[in-house]
Amino acid sequence: MTGSAPAEAAVDRATRLAQELREREVDVLLVETPINLRYLTGFTGSHGLALLSGDQADGSRLGPHRFLTDFRYATQSGEQVPDAFEREIVAGELLDAAAGSLPGSRGRLGFDEASLSVARHRKLVGLLPEGWQLVPCAGAVERLRAVKEPGEIGLIRAACELADEALKAVLEAGVVGRSERDVAIELELRMRRLGAEAASFPSIVAAGPHAALPHAEPRDLPIPPDVLLTIDWGALSDGYCSDCTRTFATGEAIGVEARGIYALVLRAQEQGLAAVKAGPSGREVDAVAREVIDQAGQGEHFGHGLGHGVGMDIHEAPRLSRTAGEEPLLAGNVVSVEPGVYLPGDLGVRIEDLVVVEEGGCEILTSLPKSLTVVD
Ligand code: ZN
Ligand code: ZN
Repeated sequence: MTGSAPAEAAVDRATRLAQELREREVDVLLVETPINLRYLTGFTGSHGLALLSGDQADGSRLGPHRFLTDFRYATQSGEQVPDAFEREIVAGELLDAAAGSLPGSRGRLGFDEASLSVARHRKLVGLLPEGWQLVPCAGAVERLRAVKEPGEIGLIRAACELADEALKAVLEAGVVGRSERDVAIELELRMRRLGAEAASFPSIVAAGPHAALPHAEPRDLPIPPDVLLTIDWGALSDGYCSDCTRTFATGEAIGVEARGIYALVLRAQEQGLAAVKAGPSGREVDAVAREVIDQAGQGEHFGHGLGHGVGMDIHEAPRLSRTAGEEPLLAGNVVSVEPGVYLPGDLGVRIEDLVVVEEGGCEILTSLPKSLTVVD
């Protein structure tokens, strides 16, 4: 599969979404965000809009699923968007064309209040035919995306393998004495050469005290020997992201404290992994790993959530954190498990794997070893 969702998957997703819309009493859902558009229609271009028709109580729909784009994408949309959508090439504004041609005399139009700008919302209110009402509907598509199909898991697995391979090659070439930035650039270059579209996010390469910043930006400073080095990286491949973090030692002469913190984070990560399965909530899984770090007196140095969903977006549903809701994890969720301990001015350790939630456990997709590895 090269980029576009196969027509079959898109049709199946649109059908599941139509059922979800019925529960929300939404007749038509407006979809504009590129990732949701790609997920539902397979379209990978930059300018498109879909109107998804929800199931009515009697099983019928108000109108067909529709896909709108401009002439630049006439050929591409014809190839990518399945026939379950009526495809339309629009000369003017897509939003005008969509709002001006809603089916029937009345209905409820769902929109994504988390992504639609205030200006576009105002415009939409002005365009809406009388009898139609706007209904906030954020999260409807994201809910579907959170549970991955086997094909999607295969693509995420491939992205993980690609990213692992790229990092191995970078480490083999040596990192001590090179700048953090140079290592980050080489890592991204190798991922692209191995077939990635891009890095799934800007790589983090942070040595010594700099690694105490969870989102450290790589610097033009050389990586010294005998410190901890955190690398957090991922590949975007066929539309799907990977995400992994490893912390290495750049020599044997790292301190006792650094080894102790590393062992602690690893223990928390392993217990977190052991807790991931369908059933418990993201909050409960977070608590398992957090408890290990709390018990060691380092709770205040683990300030972020245990993990997040990963898919077409690098951060998506569900979350593993203290503020995650009570919703149970579901088989097919793909989440990171990434505890960290950050001692300001001193060091930072984070260890992250990407896993597929299954009944009774999880499958780990990232494969690099986790015992403290010395690199040079
Ligand atoms: Zn990460
Ligand atoms: Zn992550």
